[in-house]
Amino acid sequence: MNIRIGNGYDIHRLGSDRALILGGVKIEHHLGLLGHSDADVLTHAIMDAMLGALSLGDIGHYFPPTDDRWKGANSLDLLAQVNRLILEKGWRVNNIDSTVVAERPKLKPHIGAMRDRLAAVLELNPELIGIKATTNEKLGPVGREEGIAAYAVALLVSDRQESKMPATTAAQSETIGTPEPAIVADTVAFDAKGEMVLLAQVEAKKQSSPDKVIERIIPKLQAAKTLIPFAAIVDLEKILIFQWNGIKLLNPVISLKAEDILSHYDKKFGQKRILYNYLNALFQAWLDDLAYRWKPQIPPALEQMEAIGLLPRLAGGSADSEVVLQGEVYD
Ligand SMILES: [Zn+2]
Repeated sequence: MNIRIGNGYDIHRLGSDRALILGGVKIEHHLGLLGHSDADVLTHAIMDAMLGALSLGDIGHYFPPTDDRWKGANSLDLLAQVNRLILEKGWRVNNIDSTVVAERPKLKPHIGAMRDRLAAVLELNPELIGIKATTNEKLGPVGREEGIAAYAVALLVSDRQESKMPATTAAQSETIGTPEPAIVADTVAFDAKGEMVLLAQVEAKKQSSPDKVIERIIPKLQAAKTLIPFAAIVDLEKILIFQWNGIKLLNPVISLKAEDILSHYDKKFGQKRILYNYLNALFQAWLDDLAYRWKPQIPPALEQMEAIGLLPRLAGGSADSEVVLQGEVYD
């Protein structure tokens, strides 16, 4: 079992004519929290802790205050989306602990209701959600009742085998007694159920010879325990996508100019030196974008991916790098 820990912090100003909502519970008070959404500072800290555990950035990235879709949003709905994201990545929340720092009102009578609300969204036993309330002893802005802050920690667990070991390290493991060298894919896209949908060979070269690259990718496709329907060859010039029938790769079903796609993720693509890890990361950013339809921007080549039947398979899934297909990686 893999475990990851994340922490989150948030603070919102208090103001009049606003409802005070903490942990999804509306609390009677003469002041409420100001913000673009419902300003539920506790739920925001929890979301950041969950995203942080998987290094997925923060909530501002997913629900930017510049986007009118999240105006007045119920933060429990946003929490549900973050939870879905981590489930799609193969992780789930084990438990959460949090602290709300507020001078007033008294929060203790509401903690049980907050735990129930959050637990219902996360489909967890309320006992797995810790919420503590404290004051700031009248110190600082929170102590002067100018705002309310919240801290959270989330522990996530996953049963999915994961390896972030680069292929070279995998090969070295042979010398320390691993029976067979590992076969590691550069990038694999998974569907919402965690099945492999696409395997990519990523090479930071210009005009790599497709035949040679095909020779390198086929053993990886064959090493996978399931039939992966799509294969991709990515270099600095092109993104070629093939259908894989278990025997050979026929002509690519689509050929895209790498710059047209990847300059969306780095404006300087094509003008600067791009190394393997970075090219792999840019390609994954595109796959992730194609998988999440609720993100504000439309990813490049969306319609073409729909036309070849790849888009529906990616929906709700995720992409990962250095995926071990066969053999053991010393860990
Ligand atoms: Zn917030």
